[in-house]
Order: sequence, then C-alpha cells, then structure tokens
Amino acid sequence: MSIAENIALLRENVEKCCQNAGKKPSDVQIMAVTKTVDADRINEAVAAGLSVLGENRVQELLSKAENVDKSARWHIIGQMQTNKVKYIVDKIELLHSVDRVELLKEIDRRSAQVGTKLSVLLEVNISEEISKAGVKPQDVDRLIEAASEYENLNVRGFMTIAPTGTDNDTARPYFERVFNIFERYAGKTEKNINVSILSMGMTADYQAAILEGANMIRVGSAIFGTRS
Ligand SMILES: *Cc1c(COP(=O)(O)O)cnc(C)c1O
Repeated sequence: MSIAENIALLRENVEKCCQNAGKKPSDVQIMAVTKTVDADRINEAVAAGLSVLGENRVQELLSKAENVDKSARWHIIGQMQTNKVKYIVDKIELLHSVDRVELLKEIDRRSAQVGTKLSVLLEVNISEEISKAGVKPQDVDRLIEAASEYENLNVRGFMTIAPTGTDNDTARPYFERVFNIFERYAGKTEKNINVSILSMGMTADYQAAILEGANMIRVGSAIFGTRS
C-alpha cells in the first residue's frame, strides 16, 4: 500500500474511534512520526494532508527539514538532551518530552535569546519503567509549579508512552491515568500554563488512546511501514 493509502485507512480508523468516543475526527490531531523515513516519503505524507511531523532526534530533524515541504510543522517527541535545545528552540512547534527542571531552564534561556516562547508538553512516565523518560505521576504538580516560573515557554499539556508491549486492550488503564492528570489542568490558564493537548497513542495503541481522551496521536509504522 502507498503512503497515501495508509493514511486514508488510518483516517478511517480514527474516525470510527472518534464516533465510539463521541468526538469529532477534527478533535484528534494525527502526527506523522518520521524517524528513519527519508524526505521524499515524508513529503508524500504532507501531500496527503498530514502537516504535523514528529522526530525523535534533533539531528535527524535538522537534516531532513530542509528537504521537506515548508508547510510542515515539526515536533520533537524523543528524549531531549539539554545541550541540544539551542538547535531547535525556534524551529519546532512543540516539544513533547519535557521531564525535568534543568530542561525547562535551558528552554527558557534559549527562547529568551531568540525572542520566542517554545510550547512544551510534560512527558509522564506512567509505567514508571526505568528505561522510559518522563516525570512520575506524583511529581507532575511539582514540575508544573517549577515550569510556571519560566516566562519564555508555554506548557500546553501532557504526553505519554504506554509500556512496551501493550496494545489497544492493555494500554487503556495507563492512558486513563494520564487523562486524569490532564483533566486536572485542562482549561485552567495560569501564567504560562495553558493545558489543552494530550499526546498519547502510537500505531499499536492509538485506538485505546483516543477512547481514553487523547487529542493528538503519534503514528509512524501505520503510515510509513515497519521500521527496519
Ligand atoms: C516511534 C515513536 C512513535 C511512533 O511509533 P509507531 O509504533 O511507529 O507508530 C510515537 N511516539 C514516540 C515517542 C516514538 O518514539
């Protein structure tokens, strides 16, 4: 199947899920995750209407972005090293993986230098697997509190990754727990905290994520095929 066909099928599935969840398809933003995918194939996805692109690595994003349609909006979804913030602070629309004060501090500093305010999500480590990034659920309040002190960034919501090996049946309780955190903050605006985005769900579990309240899903292999 072509990338355009994959996207059409994905859209159909998302639509069905939205119906079951009592939402409009336009309530769920589909991000195309482009790690390991070359610029030509990324442009096929953009041409098929997916304008939000997610990369895990700063270097990979920077080297591809030049050859990708300029209408695309890039997000970083992978673990972020503090010393790489300066390369992307004015090049991306949203950073999904903020999980520590040190990172907030550097985003604030670099944003101020170039006169921007980067939008970020706080990544929640809901499985509390050691190998996963993210702030622990019980530390979210403290991280938000810390983030509210940095003027040159905006906290827009939360992101999570379900435990490795979960699927549409088994991921739901994890997504539900992050939704509950999201709901505590959603709609409240205080200083630079303005929560409206809940980024969760990948190829294996986006249907569960939508049913549990995700409004942004991050899909790679269902669009571009299995990564080698
Ligand atoms: C790779 C990746 C995805 C997409 O994974 P697929 O299973 O290919 O859909 C989503 N989110 C993050 C954080 C990823 O690293």
